[in-house]
Amino acid sequence: MRKNFLSTKIKSIVIITPEKSLSKKIKDSFLLVKNTDTKEYNNIFNNLNIIFVTNKNGYANEFFMPEKIWFINKSLVKNNNLNWLASLIIHESFHATQFKNGKYILSLDKLEKPATKIQQKFLYKLKDYSAVKDVKTTLKKEYWKEMNEDKKSFIYFRNLLNLLENKKIELKEIK
Ligand SMILES: [Zn+2]
Repeated sequence: MRKNFLSTKIKSIVIITPEKSLSKKIKDSFLLVKNTDTKEYNNIFNNLNIIFVTNKNGYANEFFMPEKIWFINKSLVKNNNLNWLASLIIHESFHATQFKNGKYILSLDKLEKPATKIQQKFLYKLKDYSAVKDVKTTLKKEYWKEMNEDKKSFIYFRNLLNLLENKKIELKEIK
C-alpha cells in the first residue's frame, strides 16, 4: 500500500490525493459548488473534515463518521466530470447530517435516497439534466448494494484511516 500522498486545504477541509491533477479537480469541484449554491457550499465545511482520494482504481467510496472523512477511489475522480463530482461532494456532505448519537440510525436505502435527492437538486441547478437522469437510474439500481460487494475497497479504506490516525501516511503539502 502506498503511503505517500499530497495534501492541500480548502478552508478547513484537508484534501489528500495521490496526484496533483486530482487535487486540482477536487478544488475545481468546490469552486463549482461555491458558484452554484452558496448555502450548500457553506454546509460542506460543517460536514466534512477530510477528502481522501486513494491510489486505488475502482468505483467505491465510503464516508466515515464521526471522523467526517470521505474516502474515494481515484477512478471516481478521474473518470467523472466536474458537475458530477461537485454533486457527489454535496451528496456525501449530506450524509454527515444523518448521523445521530455516534452512529447512522437509518438503513442504507433510507440514507441514500435523501442524499441522492439533494444531489439531483444541485444537478438541476446546473441544468445538467442528463446527469439528473443518470443519478435516477443508479438510484433505481440501488447502487449501494453493488458497492457493498467491493469488500476489498472497504478494507482498504479502513486501513488508510488507521494509518492516517497513527500518522503513518506521509503527506507532502502542495498549494
Ligand atoms: Zn451515499
